[in-house]
Amino acid sequence: MGDVDRDTLAALIRREAARYGEAHPRSAALYGEARHLFGGVPMTWMSKWAGGFPLYVDRARGAAIVDVDGHRYVDFALGDTGAMAGHSPAPTVRAVAQRAGTLGGITTMLPTEDAEWVAAELTRRFGLVRWSFTLSATDANRWALRLARLATGRPKILVFSHCYHGSVDETFVVVGPDGSPVSRPGNVGPPVDPTLTTRVVEFNDTDALRHALTHDDVAAILCEPALTNIGIVLPDPEFLSGVRRLADEAGALLILDETHTLSAGPGGCTGAWGLHPDMVTIGKSIGGGIACGAYGLAADLAADLAGHDRATADLVDVGGVGGTLAGNALSVAAMRATLDEVLTDAAFVAMEALAVRFTEGVQDVLDRHDVPWSVTRLGARAEYRFVRPAPRSGGASAAAEDDALDSYFHLYTCNRGVLMTPFHNMALMCPATTEADVDLHTEVFAAAVAELHP
Ligand code: PMP
Repeated sequence: MGDVDRDTLAALIRREAARYGEAHPRSAALYGEARHLFGGVPMTWMSKWAGGFPLYVDRARGAAIVDVDGHRYVDFALGDTGAMAGHSPAPTVRAVAQRAGTLGGITTMLPTEDAEWVAAELTRRFGLVRWSFTLSATDANRWALRLARLATGRPKILVFSHCYHGSVDETFVVVGPDGSPVSRPGNVGPPVDPTLTTRVVEFNDTDALRHALTHDDVAAILCEPALTNIGIVLPDPEFLSGVRRLADEAGALLILDETHTLSAGPGGCTGAWGLHPDMVTIGKSIGGGIACGAYGLAADLAADLAGHDRATADLVDVGGVGGTLAGNALSVAAMRATLDEVLTDAAFVAMEALAVRFTEGVQDVLDRHDVPWSVTRLGARAEYRFVRPAPRSGGASAAAEDDALDSYFHLYTCNRGVLMTPFHNMALMCPATTEADVDLHTEVFAAAVAELHP
């Protein structure tokens, strides 16, 4: 099919946007009436949905969402991984009801016995032996970076260009057009220019990584084992072992952010690919939708950190590593139930099989229409990108971004009962997703591609 005809695309977007507007009067009214919300939505990114206004949710269960206009959707966005366990999974709901209602005690400044169970389960999955809890993946990353600087006595961190690790100041750096680091366009009020705190190279560029580590100032490499926030960018076969080796040679720690890459298996890429990070950070999904997060520490690092006295590292009060609600009883109860009964080893097998089906369905459509796009899978997660072959770096993937095509596919699928993740074209499987759900997407995607190619 080659390039998309932009006039055809613009006309199709207009048609789909009109259909979206007509089908969602109640959502449109609620959005239009919001006067006291900054940006008109509870969180500014919620307005990002194609169509000019977001759907308002009436209810959600398993892999389905019903909006306030009564439309039902197969949800492949799953709260951008926050609902990877499915919406309101029964075991999590039971545990939350018991903790918050029957037993009582949502947050108390005291531990509950669920915490050790969750830490032991995370150890089983990721291999790291000590765990601490947070309320978000952002905080897990923030605190992991502080601990890395403490452990190494070094000031800087290293990230891969176009990474996303939450609103962590140090991470908003990209490789600029001339190859040198620049603050990411749109970075809001950074405390200092992040090029002062951070080195940045492209993913899958081992030579650039080696060079960036020669300054002996990097405390930690913070990375996802596969990029997931600029499409999915998989590591080349030897890349991650190279990252580990280069980190060791340079005396830097390796922090793997498994918040999204948990899709690769019960222990994320760390478990699935036999990786050996010094720290793992995670959040979003493991509480079944209840706010939670965690970071894990390798044994020698945990011992080293524990050896500091409070004068040099106040790890229990105002040292900058902790939060009042972190590890609260409700959050920990939700994590225990979700890990024990929902995001189980068996569930991952089924979720991955569905993602294979999804990927094959999309690839088949691309092949039939000879469309030069790609679809990439990471365990239970799949994503299409409007370029072929699949990009190998964040920069290359960013260059392939196409807002018009994004809008078209989001509107087209939404208008036919399928929700894809805003910002990109990611589909995540949850334990409640069915083959019929996947096949509905394939059918709708095929129709959308066919219309672009009259
Ligand atoms: N790490 C990764 C890899 C993420 O994709 C995100 C959010 N998309 C975060 C961390 C931050 O998660 P949260 O916003 O829930 O803190």
